[in-house]
Amino acid sequence: MEHTLVLIKPDVVKMNSIGVILSEYEKAGLKIEALKMLKMTKELAAKHYAEHIGKPYYAKLVDFMISGPLVALVLSGENAINEVRKINGATNPVNAEPNTIRAKFATDSTLNAVHASDCIENARREINLFFLADELMYNL
Ligand code: ADP
Ligand code: MG
Repeated sequence: MEHTLVLIKPDVVKMNSIGVILSEYEKAGLKIEALKMLKMTKELAAKHYAEHIGKPYYAKLVDFMISGPLVALVLSGENAINEVRKINGATNPVNAEPNTIRAKFATDSTLNAVHASDCIENARREINLFFLADELMYNL
């Protein structure tokens, strides 16, 4: 059983489509273990996207991520990390498989609807950036 961090990015929140995205994960058998809405700050963006600091798209990425509220959640399931990334689709929606969330909701490589952790170590790190221990239902 794995845990992974998902962010429903501000573009989806503005489209009024949070529920559709949550349903995609639940239909796939993934379990929501924590959930909150928040506004990302530049400081939190720098921690969450530390490996992207200095990339040509970093400023656009941060401006987008702080542009409005987002939804953070923790999902659990067998192979949850890879399963969620499959449901999300490729970073650039041009390359995303049909019926993935990014194929349906992303505008471009930056405004791409959702985030999901890419490995166990990053999942643990990212979950701890967004949630306190007592907000994770699997701890209770
Ligand atoms: P993913 O979110 O698929 O794991 P990355 O970790 O490579 O992708 O990038 C983090 C985020 O930075 C992406 O989701 C996207 O919002 C943005 N991004 C990544 N690569 C590019 C790019 N080449 N051009 C514009 N934005 C990008
Ligand atoms: Mg990534």
